[in-house]
Amino acid sequence: MAAQPSIFARIAAGEIPCQKVFENDLLLAFLDVNPLAEGHTLVIPKRAVERLGDLTAQEAAEFGRQIPLLARRIMTATGAPACNILQNDGRAAGQEVPHVHFHIIPRREGDGLGFRWKPQARSREELEALAARIQSLP
Ligand code: AMP
Repeated sequence: MAAQPSIFARIAAGEIPCQKVFENDLLLAFLDVNPLAEGHTLVIPKRAVERLGDLTAQEAAEFGRQIPLLARRIMTATGAPACNILQNDGRAAGQEVPHVHFHIIPRREGDGLGFRWKPQARSREELEALAARIQSLP
């Protein structure tokens, strides 16, 4: 049996309302219902796709084309001088809705938002071996 459509698939189908900020044939962008900052926006493919690697080249290119334009408009509309573009790809990375989405999150100095980065030092040999392995993959 097919999986239940996700909430974002239902938004893309027009079954659930959203505060739309952009739409074309491939993508839809709307305001996050629980924003981390004013103007926090989600950009989704209209097609139901769970993981980033499952996008078509055309969809991926459209994200690349539209996200910079949307980010600029959102910063202008909110007066925020900066933004984070974030994409949680997979549950272990914090993806809660199983439909690809990019977050555009307006940022201001001292807004208290942030990530807990925990950098780990690695040897040059280890980094070289890993880079070579990644390069060798299709
Ligand atoms: P993620 O953790 O990357 O999967 O993010 C899911 C995001 O979707 C969260 O920021 C939620 O606030 C947001 N969200 C969930 N349901 C809705 C909805 N119906 N309309 C707008 N945003 C939503």
